[in-house]
Amino acid sequence: MKDFGGSALGISEAAVMLQTIAESGACMNGASSVHMNIFGLEPVAKFGMAAQKERWLPPLIQGQERACFGVTEPNTGLDTLKLQSTARREGDYYIAKGYKVFISTAQMAQKILLLARTTPIEEVDKPSCRLSLFYTDLNRDAVQITYIPKMGRSAVDTNALFFEDWTIPAEDLVGGFNAEGDGFKMILHGINAERVLMAAEALGIGFAALRRVSQYAGERMVFNKPINTYQSIQHPLTECWIQLESARLVVYLAVRMYDEGYAGGEYANAAKFLASEAAFKTAERAIRTHGNIGYAKKYHIERYLRKATLSRIAPVSAEMIKNYIRLRRSILRGFHKQAVAEAVKAREIEEDVILALTGLRTDLSQKIKKIKNISGDFRNNVDKEMDATKKAVKNLQDNLGQAELDSSAPPQTSDRECHTRQASHVGTLYQAV
Ligand SMILES: Cc1cc2nc3c(=O)[nH]c(=O)nc-3n(C[C@H](O)[C@H](O)[C@H](O)COP(=O)(O)OP(=O)(O)OC[C@H]3O[C@@H](n4cnc5c(N)ncnc54)[C@H](O)[C@@H]3O)c2cc1C
Repeated sequence: MKDFGGSALGISEAAVMLQTIAESGACMNGASSVHMNIFGLEPVAKFGMAAQKERWLPPLIQGQERACFGVTEPNTGLDTLKLQSTARREGDYYIAKGYKVFISTAQMAQKILLLARTTPIEEVDKPSCRLSLFYTDLNRDAVQITYIPKMGRSAVDTNALFFEDWTIPAEDLVGGFNAEGDGFKMILHGINAERVLMAAEALGIGFAALRRVSQYAGERMVFNKPINTYQSIQHPLTECWIQLESARLVVYLAVRMYDEGYAGGEYANAAKFLASEAAFKTAERAIRTHGNIGYAKKYHIERYLRKATLSRIAPVSAEMIKNYIRLRRSILRGFHKQAVAEAVKAREIEEDVILALTGLRTDLSQKIKKIKNISGDFRNNVDKEMDATKKAVKNLQDNLGQAELDSSAPPQTSDRECHTRQASHVGTLYQAV
């Protein structure tokens, strides 16, 4: 990003910045007035062609242009793969038609990152195919933008977008013509950054609420004593601190892993879940500890609760996070080659972060080198094991006949052996580091 006028800092630094903004008491109002320009264009930075980055990134980085993010649709909700807005190619242009909802900052943005279907859904084999990503001018002559009033985050407008016959230059297709249809893959790259930064903002809200309620509980006298001397006030606030601190560690782990190149989403999603739940719980407890005045607008506490509520809904709900992590962990538990390699990579990065956190970083670079060598050997071993397993299966097939190897049958000895051998390699790897 330095080439385009950026600071070359990572999502880790952005997380600290957004947490700090939110923790100042500005909550999501403050943080979200800047955050889209931080993470929103991750897909462009990753998949855009050199000329596109040259054209798009400097004005954004310099603050001359603002972008909004156009994904959510009224009829499809979280089921993004089914989205219905279309962009039909006509020569050097695409003609877009559709409806988007809950699009933040569209009232003031000059640009939009738009996800639209470039091939009708009935003509594609895989639902992830044929969604394309455009970064283009938000042309107000073609797009009708309607403000949606909402319960919080009022510093940032939220809108419904309706468009028909919207002519988008083909050169605004992110990644160029060869990337037509790859839009969903591109969006996925950006969403981990978004989730983890929203988690950092939620942390900020939680700590702001905790700070305010702790001060109040020390000052408020009831039955001749400050209320913070009552255990029923102390314990819930202590729990809030424990949960916020635990969430903070996972958020910092997740941002670090993202910056190190880890592409899986389980840590970013776990961070988002833990931070938003902890923030909501703390804000709710802050209201109850304040009693009457917690319910009054003047004292800010009700504002924290409204802001913390948003972090539980957007950009993804707690339910979908759990769906995703369940699916992802069950894939990682499998023992096919790619999953094992990903687990090794995750372990390498975790190791790095744990060392850094516990201050044991003295010979880190040597250790990392060692881990990398070992994991290289490990991968070779996995390849060998796979070959050996294939041979064993072939022998079994020859000996027992195909019928006994039907997928409905219980696992064969060769599968179990393979699993055990791989588990022992993982054990060796962990012991070695
Ligand atoms: C203030 C605000 C700003 C936003 N800004 C933007 C923006 O700038 N750009 C943008 O594109 N979007 C934006 N969004 C949209 C946001 O990302 C969506 O609200 C979010 O994706 C949820 O979609 P939905 O409300 O349609 O949920 P729905 O899909 O209708 O889901 C409703 C409920 O059903 C549950 N549910 C759905 N499917 C499942 C399932 N399979 N398993 C279990 N539970 C399920 C959900 O968890 C949720 O509780 C914003 C939203 C808000 C509130």
